[in-house]
Amino acid sequence: MALRFYNTLTQRVEDFTPLDGKTVRMYTCGPTVYHYVHIGNLRTSLFQDILRRWLAYRGYTLMHVMNITDVEDKIIRNAMQQGKSLSEYTAQYEQAFLEDMATLRMQRPERIVRATEHIEEMVANVEALTAKGFTYVAEGSVYFRIASFPSYGKLSHIHFEGQMAGARLDMDEYEKDDARDFVLWKARKGDEPFWDTRLGPGRPGWHIECSAMAMKYLGETLDIHTGGIDLTFPHHENEIAQAEGATGKQFVRYWLHAEHLLVDWQKMSKSLGNFYTLRDLLEKGYSPEAIRYQLSQVPYRNKLNFTFDGLAASSTALDRLRNFKLRLDTAKFAEGANAALSEAAIKARAAFDEGMDADLNTAEALGAVFEYVRIANIAMDAGEFKVGNTPQAHALLDHFDAIFQVLAVTRAAGAKDDAEIQALVDERTQAKKARNFKRSDEIRDQLAADGIVLEDTKDGVRWKRK
Ligand code: AMP
Ligand code: ZN
Repeated sequence: MALRFYNTLTQRVEDFTPLDGKTVRMYTCGPTVYHYVHIGNLRTSLFQDILRRWLAYRGYTLMHVMNITDVEDKIIRNAMQQGKSLSEYTAQYEQAFLEDMATLRMQRPERIVRATEHIEEMVANVEALTAKGFTYVAEGSVYFRIASFPSYGKLSHIHFEGQMAGARLDMDEYEKDDARDFVLWKARKGDEPFWDTRLGPGRPGWHIECSAMAMKYLGETLDIHTGGIDLTFPHHENEIAQAEGATGKQFVRYWLHAEHLLVDWQKMSKSLGNFYTLRDLLEKGYSPEAIRYQLSQVPYRNKLNFTFDGLAASSTALDRLRNFKLRLDTAKFAEGANAALSEAAIKARAAFDEGMDADLNTAEALGAVFEYVRIANIAMDAGEFKVGNTPQAHALLDHFDAIFQVLAVTRAAGAKDDAEIQALVDERTQAKKARNFKRSDEIRDQLAADGIVLEDTKDGVRWKRK
């Protein structure tokens, strides 16, 4: 079956093809860099990474833009409290976010764009709305009149008629029951940072940032727009009003929203204080791969409750896959090929692809891999796994890992690479043969200190990282 996604706009699972058949033009609301991101934010980023990888596997070229929100209410408040300029304050968190992405092996979008570098585009977006009669000015600020945009609410599927009385709101974030005219351009206030523009001195509202940047780099109609589920209202609803109000064209064809990461069944959030950063978990000794696995194993539209037991279970699941790969790499198999296993590999690959095509059902895709590993391990125990079955097994693991990116072990800085370890393992084997047990024990201890475990098998010595 075709690749398909659940579209928040239509509330249906739909077949996906980009408008031009080849290039996926996609926009992602990136982080607001007022603090270190938490692993809830990173779950949403990871969904986007997996989406990217799957679209590329399906043959599409990606033109993916992610913004960095580096001007907004919370940033201004914090920067002013610390007596810093906006960029002085945000640079550290932007850098930390990009490092976190790299640690979790996320690809970089083709473009990463900062709000503060696109003020002109935002002003032009507001002017286009004004020219079409969607705005009004009050106390120097420019507002979007939601009553003038009849389809307001179409993304969040809420009927706002009762609330469209013209009351207005200056805040960047607000709840559904507070649907009111929202601010596009905020007049200069006190000593807050501001830009002198054709709209007067002031700064952009949060929502206008994304529609202006998305259209600049991706055109008036995007294929995909992603974000966390909490952005549906008001942020994405407002983006639609700003973009479609200005162009008269459909802004986004497929809206994909990721569900939240929870802690004790409550949303992980800065304001509740129930959050972990990636750095917190790495300090506790969890590996980036176990964290990546934990955050991606549940399909993105399901809530995921974070627990340390769950993280430990992810490490165990990962070990199982790595041990299988090690066995595949090092065990000696009999000549020939086992037809039933070959069949199982083909089936697993098809089930994996079908799972991913079905709105990125990562649980189903993983299930297919584990089922194959189970069958193949049993066959290996019974001596029925043959040399001829290894290419398919490798291909399946590679296919899985091209998306999930968890099999390779992250090495600490200065740690030995595979060739160095293998050389020591070989030296130890030679030393043992020469009955130089002092040297062979020395090497074993040295490797153990580096977290390398040796295992003597009938096929020789295997090693792995702990
Ligand atoms: P923010 O920095 O709050 O603008 O959030 C950045 C991104 O992370 C947005 O797409 C949010 O929807 C998303 N996000 C925030 N909290 C969570 C959470 N607990 N689980 C998953 N995604 C989240
Ligand atoms: Zn946005």
